[in-house]
Amino acid sequence: MTAPVNLLDFDLEGLAAYCETLGEKRFRATQLFRWIHQRGGSDFGQMSDLAKSLREKLAGAAHVTALPVLSQHASRDGTIKWLFDVGGGNAVEAVFIPEDDRGTLCISSQAGCAVGCRFCSTGHQGFSRNLGTGEIVAQLWFAEHFLRRHLQTGERVISNVVMMGMGEPLQNYDRLAPALRTMLDDHGYGLSRRRVTVSTSGVVPMMDRLAQDCPVALAVSLHAPSDALRDALVPLNRKYPLAELLAACTRYLAHAPRDFITFEYCMLDGVNDQPEHARTLIELVRAHAASGLRCKFNLIPFNPFPASGLLRSPAPRVQAFAKALNDAGIVTTVRKTRGDDIDAACGQLAGDVRDRTRVAERMARQRSVVLHPVPAGAARAPTPAS
Ligand code: SAH
Ligand code: SF4
Repeated sequence: MTAPVNLLDFDLEGLAAYCETLGEKRFRATQLFRWIHQRGGSDFGQMSDLAKSLREKLAGAAHVTALPVLSQHASRDGTIKWLFDVGGGNAVEAVFIPEDDRGTLCISSQAGCAVGCRFCSTGHQGFSRNLGTGEIVAQLWFAEHFLRRHLQTGERVISNVVMMGMGEPLQNYDRLAPALRTMLDDHGYGLSRRRVTVSTSGVVPMMDRLAQDCPVALAVSLHAPSDALRDALVPLNRKYPLAELLAACTRYLAHAPRDFITFEYCMLDGVNDQPEHARTLIELVRAHAASGLRCKFNLIPFNPFPASGLLRSPAPRVQAFAKALNDAGIVTTVRKTRGDDIDAACGQLAGDVRDRTRVAERMARQRSVVLHPVPAGAARAPTPAS
């Protein structure tokens, strides 16, 4: 007997192909998909407009199963964080952030992360495994239908999804792409491409694939104006340095639903927040603007955690940095920190990960390397052992 299939693993095409294996027509897959994603259904018996014969076949071969919820925390500001069990000692987090005009869900793509950014607590945990498509979608499926019940509404609650939880989504591309298609599908969550954002630390070849396959809004975690400093903060920069990354951003714009890339820049006290960093950044952006790069900046006040050995930039320095960029004509905002009291802010999502690689070990060694502001244009820093 084959193992039961979790239907959350399929985008509509995949579900249609699966239904065909059961001897069913494609339009049945559309009905089923709508039951699952639009109505939150998991009990085939209740899917009243499906033929009884299909319901019986499904009951024997398939299921729609959420991830077990290990904990739920609600912040004073309305933010809700869930910790989901993904088995094998791993847990991942999703965060709902309500605002006046939108409801954003921040979801995870991996248990842990292999990139190992210096300032990120997920990175410090190491990497365990990629989430499956169904595990990515299950976060949205659960949150949307939980919130509808909780708020007693039949209306859609989640209007935006950001892939900014745990993990590097573009290092899990094959599972991410069907999940994105389910989010966008009119028979699924019906989100527009502008309202689904993939955030990446800069996996250049996969940015090109995303542009071709499923061009949603793109956020790129920049964090440094020079290769020397970025090498030390985002180790992936050694593989895809700034010139390549920014060229990929420019290429992406030809396909993008928004006419700009959002650059995220985490403000680290004394590390990347000095006036000379702002000047170098402006030069960098101007140099690439000439070849068609259009961007906005989102400055993220660093959310400290003890193992990082780093501190948050003082607010006036963040404001001065934002002003320098804005004065140079680069639209820059400062991200409001939400869910601080429940550790749900950016980079605080640590879940609980069994590191199956040596990432955590490498991060522990790096902890002893003190980061100092790197002068603009300095030679590339010696790379810590990887
Ligand atoms: N791996 C992807 C997406 C997840 S991280 C990426 O790196 O883009 C989402 C955002 O949170 C990224 O911009 C990341 O750099 C930022 N971030 C990570 N740790 C942080 C911290 N401690 N404080 C503030 N922002 C952080
Ligand atoms: Fe991974 Fe993103 Fe954290 Fe870097 S910032 S370690 S890429 S999750």
